[in-house]
Amino acid sequence: MNKYFFLALFFLYSCASVEYSDKKYSLYDSRYPDYTYSESAHFIVNSLSSSYAKEISDMAEKYYYSLMMDTNLFSFVQVAPYRIVVHEDKESFLKKTKAPKWSGGFISSNTIETYISTQTPCVIAHEITHLILNEYFGDYAEIYPWISEGLAVYQERKACFESDLKYEKILKSKVYVSLYPFSVLNNLKPKNNDKIADVEKFYAQSSDIIKFLIKKEGSFKFYIFIDGLKRGLSLDFAIKNAYPAVFNDVYQLEKKWLNEIGK
Ligand SMILES: [Zn+2]
Repeated sequence: MNKYFFLALFFLYSCASVEYSDKKYSLYDSRYPDYTYSESAHFIVNSLSSSYAKEISDMAEKYYYSLMMDTNLFSFVQVAPYRIVVHEDKESFLKKTKAPKWSGGFISSNTIETYISTQTPCVIAHEITHLILNEYFGDYAEIYPWISEGLAVYQERKACFESDLKYEKILKSKVYVSLYPFSVLNNLKPKNNDKIADVEKFYAQSSDIIKFLIKKEGSFKFYIFIDGLKRGLSLDFAIKNAYPAVFNDVYQLEKKWLNEIGK
């Protein structure tokens, strides 16, 4: 009897981890032992319901692919699977994670934690972009928030109709009437105590510039651009290197984006 018990335990244990780059990762999150899991090519999703975990895992793969298509980052290989924990509601999310009341979700290490709501797809599309960019850029991840937030918000807007509508409104009512000059935008780093309206304006403008770059000039040049930044090139040189004869520096990018929006 005991023998069967241990065999069963061994079987459970060997099924409960995934091999990834020669290392094993648990499919369960030890902090939430009652949560089940769904495993996909790039993610482990933990939530109370396994069918919901599967739904989120399919969604996450879709957003992963969308980011790869926009950035041509197909050569990027993550070191470990990303984990997404989706709590059942806001109350249990706040209680279990001790997140601040206003939080809809956050990243800690290579994990996204959020909760089930109509905003879940928006949060996941946004935060997956940060997980990938943080790992890709490494030491350079914090240097240009307008690029990382711009790309994250652009992915969020593609994934989520409500977000797209919200940022379209902010663009029309705030950005296009009083935009941040590039000299200011380039140095903005949103902090927790900033006014939400200012941060959203920064998000809206940054995502509009990133959308312009990707839609107008394509993902291959965008990859050359971010690869240059990752290699430590200055912003101006990375732009000139990726977009020869189009933008010589960041101010030409600004000028052409202004032209695009009719300014
Ligand atoms: Zn963000």
